[in-house]
Amino acid sequence: MIFRVDIKEKKVLEQEVPENYNFLGGRGLTSKILLDEVDPNCEPLGYKNKLIFAPGLLGGTSAPCSGRLSIGGKSPLTNGIKESNSGGTAATKLAKLDIKAIILENQPENDEWHSLKISKDGIEIIDATDIVSAGNYETAKYYQNKYSNKIAIISIGPAGENQYQAASISITDMKGLPTRHCARGGLGALMGSKKLKAILIDDTGALGVKIKDNIKFNQIAKEWIKTLISTKKGLTEFGTPSTVDPMNALGCLPTNNFSYGTFKGASLINSDKLLEIIEQRGGKQGIPCQPGCVIKCSRKFNDINGNYLTSGLEYETLALMGANCGINDLDIIAQMNRLCDDIGLDTMEMGVTLGVIMESGLISFGDGKEALKLLQQTRQKTILGRLIAQGAALTGKVLGVRRIPVVKNQGISGYDPRGQKGTGVTYITSSQGADHTAGCCLPGRIGFRPETNKILDTQKPEGQVDLSLDLQIMTAVCDFAGFCVFVGTTKQNMGITAELINAKYGCELNTDDIVEMGKEVLRIEKIFNQKAGFTDNDDRLPEFFYYEKLPPKNLVFDVSEKEIKKVKGILNY
Ligand code: SF4
Repeated sequence: MIFRVDIKEKKVLEQEVPENYNFLGGRGLTSKILLDEVDPNCEPLGYKNKLIFAPGLLGGTSAPCSGRLSIGGKSPLTNGIKESNSGGTAATKLAKLDIKAIILENQPENDEWHSLKISKDGIEIIDATDIVSAGNYETAKYYQNKYSNKIAIISIGPAGENQYQAASISITDMKGLPTRHCARGGLGALMGSKKLKAILIDDTGALGVKIKDNIKFNQIAKEWIKTLISTKKGLTEFGTPSTVDPMNALGCLPTNNFSYGTFKGASLINSDKLLEIIEQRGGKQGIPCQPGCVIKCSRKFNDINGNYLTSGLEYETLALMGANCGINDLDIIAQMNRLCDDIGLDTMEMGVTLGVIMESGLISFGDGKEALKLLQQTRQKTILGRLIAQGAALTGKVLGVRRIPVVKNQGISGYDPRGQKGTGVTYITSSQGADHTAGCCLPGRIGFRPETNKILDTQKPEGQVDLSLDLQIMTAVCDFAGFCVFVGTTKQNMGITAELINAKYGCELNTDDIVEMGKEVLRIEKIFNQKAGFTDNDDRLPEFFYYEKLPPKNLVFDVSEKEIKKVKGILNY
């Protein structure tokens, strides 16, 4: 079923899934609904925009790591189409309740706040006055005490309520903590513009997901689980923080607002140091963030007194709130991470923004205590707090900073594009703005076409456009199926995805069909952005990446514009 919630009229409409949406899920569905129903020129925080929640095509099944939730809308940050996905328990419960999508429409004209309560009996709009202004942690506890600690909670913190452009949407994890975030693109602000505080999902009595050929489905899933357990041990044992050392060694770890590629304090924020602290304080590495995850890359990080402080604390946060701000203190970074999770802010956008603030001289690089205080100001709603929560682009302009590392207004992720050129191509060409999750071309990655079936030097321009394109397509496949990208964006996994979809839906897709479905998602998103006024001129990095040499390897971004335009040709839009 698809549920439409008119938040102004307080009406919930239940509708059958239109036939042309049958094979759409996750990002594929959020992006298609946006193109079909939302005026690309609408104001992102106005009444015409819609916020869409959708589990993937394989959500709620026994397929490993298939419980990502996609949230889509016109982005308040980039002004273009946006999909942001995350783990947590929400997507699995929605899929088990047979909910293909929730479309949040319209906008209240008063100051009343609401939450949605979802169960097998449908959707109820409930008053949320008592919990307005609360952080995500308090919100989760409030609703767990009120209803049950087994419900999944999707919520926004004060940042979303205040419609800050860096606001995220949080999703509770397996422990019921709001540690998973659809962080990018300011979708929390869009939820705040609809005055929706939270969505509570209780799947008690749900009928579960229908599967045409259960035996076959379970066979494929079981085999894949075995493979993932044996091949993803590195992620289980060390998680994404293990990326700090290789990026530092390659000279592309963003440092001091993308001024250097190596960070002297890297050994104080890398996975060895993190694991040492986790062990000393009784924390844990190797925790799943969603049901059915067999890779378990997440962690529990305790404070100095051994009390739970935060989870997540991924490479991106360490790179952007750590090295990029010159901060080498894991405790400070963990506190910043916790604060952002609670207020509901994207740690990547805030890491880039703090780097820009440090470049302006307002505070110094390496001053973690002042950085933490600045983040607290977003909750206190000081003028400066309000400014920085609008993200790096606006903050940089107001503070007179020239070097602002954004594409389409969104902060660049934790890979300097001069040293990771394929990921740089993704930042440039993705409709999602600078977002590594749209197609991360890490060393060792290969594509699915004969011409991309080779390992490239990621610091040379040759072949990076084709590699980025293949990875963008395969990532779109993961995103519409509902998989965590850590299962691996590979040709083989696209084949497995096809087999699982065939067993679930009784169809006969092959890898080529899956590739076409991935491409179609990218085309839809490009069309939306073109209609929203984006042109080729928006497809570029800030100028300094093209001429300012990145020490110590003195690299510049040198993939030619002519090459980059190939993406357009291959996608045929
Ligand atoms: S691999 Fe990590 S991010 Fe992916 S679902 Fe598992 S715990 Fe979550």
